Amino acid sequence: MSEPASAGAAATAVAPRLRAVLAGMPAYTAGAPVTGPDGTPGYRLSLNENPHPPLPSVLEAVAGAAARLNRYPDLTCSDLTAAIAASTGVDAERVVVGAGSSALIVQAMQAACEAGDEVVFAWRSFDVYPVTAAVVGATPVPVPLAPGGRHDVDAMAAAVTERTRVVMVCSPNNPTGTVVSAGELERLLEAVPREVLVVVDEAYAEYVRDPLAADGLAAARHHENVVVLRTFSKAYGLAGLRVGYAVASPQVARVLRSAGAPFGVSGVAQVAAVASLAAEEELMARVGASVAERERVVAALAAQGWRLPRSEANFVWLPLGERTPEFVAAAADRGISVRPFGLEGARVTVAEVEGDDRFLEVAAAFAPGG
Ligand SMILES: *Cc1c(COP(=O)(O)O)cnc(C)c1O
Repeated sequence: MSEPASAGAAATAVAPRLRAVLAGMPAYTAGAPVTGPDGTPGYRLSLNENPHPPLPSVLEAVAGAAARLNRYPDLTCSDLTAAIAASTGVDAERVVVGAGSSALIVQAMQAACEAGDEVVFAWRSFDVYPVTAAVVGATPVPVPLAPGGRHDVDAMAAAVTERTRVVMVCSPNNPTGTVVSAGELERLLEAVPREVLVVVDEAYAEYVRDPLAADGLAAARHHENVVVLRTFSKAYGLAGLRVGYAVASPQVARVLRSAGAPFGVSGVAQVAAVASLAAEEELMARVGASVAERERVVAALAAQGWRLPRSEANFVWLPLGERTPEFVAAAADRGISVRPFGLEGARVTVAEVEGDDRFLEVAAAFAPGG
């Protein structure tokens, strides 16, 4: 109780020494929750979530796993790994399950990067890439997107140095929605040294309809240095459970597993993902409906005068420039939260028809020449 005053003073005088690169990092943002006008429900269009609640079969599996919460989960995720291997047609030794693809991004960079090594990625893209690169002690190397919000794979290849250990490819790209074509990915893989990991983040793969889009799994079959990331958070509607997977060469897969936290994927998440793969047909029908809704929204925006990057994901990108904050405020007034990116633009999830219609009303007021 009676600690000398000097001890307390000494304790407060010395702050814990933390890494300066992290202290300067922006905090993650997720878009504030909103309510609609006159107390009507709000729509969260800021996180690219699946608007459909889990299937009854998935909830049933979750309830069963919840009864075993006193036990650690299956360390090796064996049932889920087997189910993913069956669904993707790759060997189980090439599959790594993780706590969302965000965790697998950390594992991939940890597996490849020593302090001062470089991570090349398009920009703008998923903001987890530069943050994770800094967290693992690597140097983020952003490469500006080409006009139209597309990856500039030639500029990315040119940015590779002997310090580069990871090249991130986001297809469809978050936040612009554009895909990297199969030809572009092949060109990048030809230009990048074989000892550099090329991580193809396909979080929205199930929403892609462009026949020319790159297929990361096909590329991984022919290139030892390709790592493909997929997630159950978007098309499979399990964002709340944190589960995703990587497909890599057996040797890379082994190191990715070592870099993961032990028991990092909960038993509830594992059984929910297995149940979701068992209900794949039903879930992909929902994705088909989301794609049709995306096309409705895209056509309505085009009719308003917007000329937008071609979205192959479950969101659209509005390059609003300086009007971005004004647009975000107008959307919030109508009970919609969207995701702003500085003074560049806003990303808006395509979700329920009612929420999308409200978004379209707000967008009309901001349309070029509108
Ligand atoms: C949503 C998203 C993910 C998935 O993250 P999880 O950790 O699996 O929820 C990964 N990459 C991109 C580009 C995303 O937009």
